[in-house]
Amino acid sequence: MEDCIFCKIASGEIGSLVYENEFVAAFDDLNPQAPVHTLIVPKKHIENIEDLHFHSEGECHHHDEEHEQHGPCDGKYIKEIFKAIKEVAKIKGVSESGYRIISNCGKDAGQTVMHLHFHLLAGKELGEKII
Ligand code: AMP
Ligand code: ZN
Repeated sequence: MEDCIFCKIASGEIGSLVYENEFVAAFDDLNPQAPVHTLIVPKKHIENIEDLHFHSEGECHHHDEEHEQHGPCDGKYIKEIFKAIKEVAKIKGVSESGYRIISNCGKDAGQTVMHLHFHLLAGKELGEKII
């Protein structure tokens, strides 16, 4: 996606990354809401959770050649995002103290950037309430 700010950050075109691998990237939020506020995103432009497409039954049965053509399936990205969340928590030193993960999806959630992202919030006691 040409005009997507998170595509540009995830590809390394602008900004700086806290963590990346082949599938995902993580970077600090521009307007932090907690001492640690990092965003974890897929390198593929997926709009939000509603834009994810999963196989109807079980695991992916594509051959390697098919993935070379159309890229990994969305399930792969979700698995990699959650692996990256654990990596970012380790990098930020909050694995033990704890963290909150939030993903805003659509209008009522107030999603402002239409590229799937997971907020990792940590570094202080966030309280029992979610909002
Ligand atoms: P959301 O409401 O979940 O769509 O949140 C979008 C988040 O992206 C907000 O917390 C913004 O502060 C953050 N954000 C927007 N632009 C940038 C940017 N260029 N770099 C880092 N974070 C950003
Ligand atoms: Zn994008």
